[in-house]
Amino acid sequence: MPELPEIQTIVNELERVLPGKRIKSCRVLRDKMVQGDQHRFRQQVKNKNIRKIERRGKYIVITLSSSQMIIVHLRMTGKFIFQPLKSPAQKHDRVVFELQNQQKLIFSDVRCFGTLELVNDINKHNGLSQLGFDPWSRQLTAGILQKKLENRQIPIKTALLDQKLIAGLGNIYASEILFDAGIHPDIPANQLKHEKLASIIRSMRKILRLALKYNGTSISDYRRIDEKQGMFQNFLKVYGKADQKCINCSSSIMKITQNQRSTFLCPGCQK
Ligand SMILES: [Zn+2]
Repeated sequence: MPELPEIQTIVNELERVLPGKRIKSCRVLRDKMVQGDQHRFRQQVKNKNIRKIERRGKYIVITLSSSQMIIVHLRMTGKFIFQPLKSPAQKHDRVVFELQNQQKLIFSDVRCFGTLELVNDINKHNGLSQLGFDPWSRQLTAGILQKKLENRQIPIKTALLDQKLIAGLGNIYASEILFDAGIHPDIPANQLKHEKLASIIRSMRKILRLALKYNGTSISDYRRIDEKQGMFQNFLKVYGKADQKCINCSSSIMKITQNQRSTFLCPGCQK
């Protein structure tokens, strides 16, 4: 599933081309992708200008000239593609926005877990209203993190995936961040001292910044707009590397399961 660097890459690319464009019409080819009343969705996005595109956690927020927002979650296989208006429909086209300039913006999704929802107030959206700190937030400090984790005995890796704590991390970057910080993913979150939490925050920002520079990680389904790939998969140090040698200490990278998710770590570097 795409995580912060992948979503931010898509948002940046959409932000370069969409603002100022008008949605002439909208077609929903797969009902369940649009949350709520899809007739209302189609009617209310019609003839609106797109004002801006932003990321909140792993959500994409498209603000319209009516001040309403289209909240998009890509889940597993959702992606955006631009096509000339007259190009033939593709098998996985799910929602099609006809834009001015004879172009269409397609929300394509093989597995159909992605969602689009039109809202008036972001604070009333179930997922968005509960998001925790953005990784870049100045309010996110080791002290605050320590306070938030003081009663949580769950492994630190599992805590990093909790979107209500920090919004935007997933399985790939949580493993990479803990490797960079030299912290074992099984350590209970409430046992980490202030300086360890500070190094997790430092590593998180460093890894995310680097991943963003390379437009994210295209291991399985993630694609940038128009099917372009990210390149950060070439820089991963532990994720997906079970039984390979650690680049720092030559120990064998291990794969463990935590909360039904795979975690990768170096037993030599992460204590
Ligand atoms: Zn190592």
